[in-house]
Amino acid sequence: MIRDWIIKNILPRALWVYHVNCGACNGCDIEVLDTLTPYYDAERFGIRMVGSPRHADALVLCGPMTRQTAPAVRRAYEAVPDPKIVFAIGSCATGGGMWHDTYNVLGGADQVLPVDFYVPGCPPRPRRSSA
Ligand code: SF4
Repeated sequence: MIRDWIIKNILPRALWVYHVNCGACNGCDIEVLDTLTPYYDAERFGIRMVGSPRHADALVLCGPMTRQTAPAVRRAYEAVPDPKIVFAIGSCATGGGMWHDTYNVLGGADQVLPVDFYVPGCPPRPRRSSA
């Protein structure tokens, strides 16, 4: 139900995004940044990256959630004003990926905070799968 409310009320507006690397190899981060390049140009839809979680509507999380980064990611989540949405980008953020059972990884992002949307892939590309 909350997801339907989010889709109807938040996604149609200009979406300001705060991007967090939770422990990623940078593969997913590069693909996220690629959406802002002139080729994909996510800003034409009003989507833009912001430098502070306090200015954001959404968190974009990449990489497995590590023990070291979890407290900072939780603080970033709490700094985003309500209502907020969270995207887990890539196999690592959605479930820990290949690192899920390593000593310093807690798992996916939803081990630390609520995730609204999961985008699997290693790394997921900005283009549609049918393109
Ligand atoms: S999903 Fe793949 S590209 Fe993304 S952080 Fe994990 S290993 Fe790197």
